[in-house]
Amino acid sequence: MMKRWGCMLSLALVTAAVSGCGAAEFAPTPTPSPTPTPALATVWPARGWAAVSLTYDDGVPTDFSVVGPALRRHRLNGTFFAGGDSLTSLDHAPHWRDLINDGNEIGSHTMHHPCERAQSWVPPGFASEDYTLERMQQELQESIGLIRGLDYQGATLSFAYPCGIRWVGEQHVSYVPLVDALFVAGRTCEWGVADPAAVSLAETPSFGVQDVSGGDLIAHVHEAEASGGWTVLQFHGVGGDYITVSAEAHEALLAYLDSHRTSVWTAPFGTVAARLRTVRAGR
Ligand SMILES: [Zn+2]
Repeated sequence: MMKRWGCMLSLALVTAAVSGCGAAEFAPTPTPSPTPTPALATVWPARGWAAVSLTYDDGVPTDFSVVGPALRRHRLNGTFFAGGDSLTSLDHAPHWRDLINDGNEIGSHTMHHPCERAQSWVPPGFASEDYTLERMQQELQESIGLIRGLDYQGATLSFAYPCGIRWVGEQHVSYVPLVDALFVAGRTCEWGVADPAAVSLAETPSFGVQDVSGGDLIAHVHEAEASGGWTVLQFHGVGGDYITVSAEAHEALLAYLDSHRTSVWTAPFGTVAARLRTVRAGR
């Protein structure tokens, strides 16, 4: 059943979903780069003046076949946002453990990937409109339990909003406070570089990418370098699956990050968010 939903989700996303992290939000609508705040100029470790987080959604097969080996080759780490179907898959468990052992983060992407009812592929009873805060909290805690069950004891547990939707119920009640309470940060589909001084960590923006070149990906890194900000890249399939970026483009990005590691801090999403929380707390 879950596998079928996954396929339906894939199909819907390939055919340009109309809401959430759909085609509209992948459109490269430029937003002004934030101006770095001098007081936070030293927020990034060592000599770095920018941060980049690589995030990968939905627990798709290319996470294991393409992304994991590529990250390992370049000694880089990312964050994998897995849904309940992947977290409960016995086939996926050893792959998740390998990624964790490499230093990657596993984050929550809910149990059932709720999206707007208007999406034809959303099963009855599992639309965002069908949820209450109580049900969402219960399912988020269930996904946290599954992640911890993978021997993932990392202090940083982060979250990515399915379809970018931050509400539940017919009245569109925000569940951002829930995410803020349960996770170090939440990743949205808002397009832009995060300003370390101002970003609301439970609603951190990202760049959802699809069919882009290595140069396009590196340009998002340059945006962070120019502003002292934090670029969060949001991938789905790499070299396959759906909402695909080619393995070559992904490789070009990793090669750039690998060769600029003294100036650009590439770290998992939750790790960067945890550092910002620490800096903000004055510790
Ligand atoms: Zn997703």
